[in-house]
Amino acid sequence: MPFLLSSSAALFSISKALSCRTLTLLAANPRCQFSTAMSISLNSHAFAGNPSRLRTAKPSDPFSPNSAFQTLKTLLLSNSTHESFSPDFKVLPFRKGRPLVGSSGDSGSGGPNWRLGWLSLGECKVFLEKSEVSLVEDLLVYLGFKAEEDVVYWAIDVSEASGMVSELGSRQFSFVELRTLMVATDWADPISMGDLAVAGHARALLEWHATSRFCGYCGAKTVPMEAGRRKSCSNEMCKKRIYPRVDPVVIMLVIDKENDRALLSKQSRYVPRMWSCLAGFIEPGESLEEAVRRETLEETGVEVGEVVYHSSQPWPVAPGGIPCQLMVGFYAYAKSLDISVDKGELEDAQWHSREDVKKALTMAEYKKAQRTAAAKVDQICKGVEKSQSLTSDFNVESGELAPMFVPGPFAIAHHLISSWANQTMVNGAETLIKQPANSLSSL
Ligand SMILES: [Zn+2]
Repeated sequence: MPFLLSSSAALFSISKALSCRTLTLLAANPRCQFSTAMSISLNSHAFAGNPSRLRTAKPSDPFSPNSAFQTLKTLLLSNSTHESFSPDFKVLPFRKGRPLVGSSGDSGSGGPNWRLGWLSLGECKVFLEKSEVSLVEDLLVYLGFKAEEDVVYWAIDVSEASGMVSELGSRQFSFVELRTLMVATDWADPISMGDLAVAGHARALLEWHATSRFCGYCGAKTVPMEAGRRKSCSNEMCKKRIYPRVDPVVIMLVIDKENDRALLSKQSRYVPRMWSCLAGFIEPGESLEEAVRRETLEETGVEVGEVVYHSSQPWPVAPGGIPCQLMVGFYAYAKSLDISVDKGELEDAQWHSREDVKKALTMAEYKKAQRTAAAKVDQICKGVEKSQSLTSDFNVESGELAPMFVPGPFAIAHHLISSWANQTMVNGAETLIKQPANSLSSL
């Protein structure tokens, strides 16, 4: 089963060096002491590290889904959404899969940053009423909370309320593609990274709600339960419980230890000269490492032995109506080196030397591309730019054509590739490769 990374994962200009700081996402795995000297600063992958989901509230806690839902119901019934109450509720509207965002304006040297367009419960109610939609509790989906700020967060799909677009536009808010926001997110700004994670989580939940309206067992309607965190079949005879869907995908950098090379692939959907990791969906009844070996063999003819876990990334921006993929990243060590590309799945696959991969990483202007996208989002929010998706604008080629480049730092592929490319600088990396403790390969 092929897995297609979207071409927008790589739409970056090529030029000079990127800023070099510390990548800490590998810290969770003490065996992975890779050098990170040339990697991008991240506390977690894009879409991970959601700040409103740091802990689970006890059922009696006012922040818990059930307690918050009861409060919500009471507020809506008594029509008292404009009074102050505790905890405070903030609502994030989505339209056709796009979250509402505003711009923080120009923050100085860094340029503008986008921010989530949270509405109060009262504002949300008023906006919906203008489109003749009444706000009922089942429309809202619980996202999480911040106890220190006394806030519970909710998401709502307002695709039906067409009047909201112009109403919110007058306040310099706009519904913007999540992919566009992903590219525009300043990864050095923890607030932006947190906002991106919240938006990804909310989008995945709303998408799942939209695609699970009927029970797969008996065909009856489903109803939201536990403040939208799960659903249940409305047929009394069935009552099937339905949970949000996550689709795991393995993504692997296949390594030729002997010759110090990595296997990268190209797909016709990528922009020209973009090379990335192999990836594929896990099949039922298959382990992660089996999926890594099978996909690599099917797509490239290369046999894989050891498989070592790296990190994982939620990916709520996949095409094709899949609510949320979980990208599970691995290093996979080749047992055979001859490549036989499955042209039905890939355009090409080749071994690349570490030097070539390093060059590709240092030539890419990731930061510049991020700032360009951020400036465009700012223009969208101000109503200057009418298009709400920037896909065609990401391909900001500079004059010099690099022979190859790899996806940007918002994608786990970037970190698999850059961690490998830079690992020889630190003791321990080679230890991991030569003596993988608790190797998964024997499983
Ligand atoms: Zn049913």
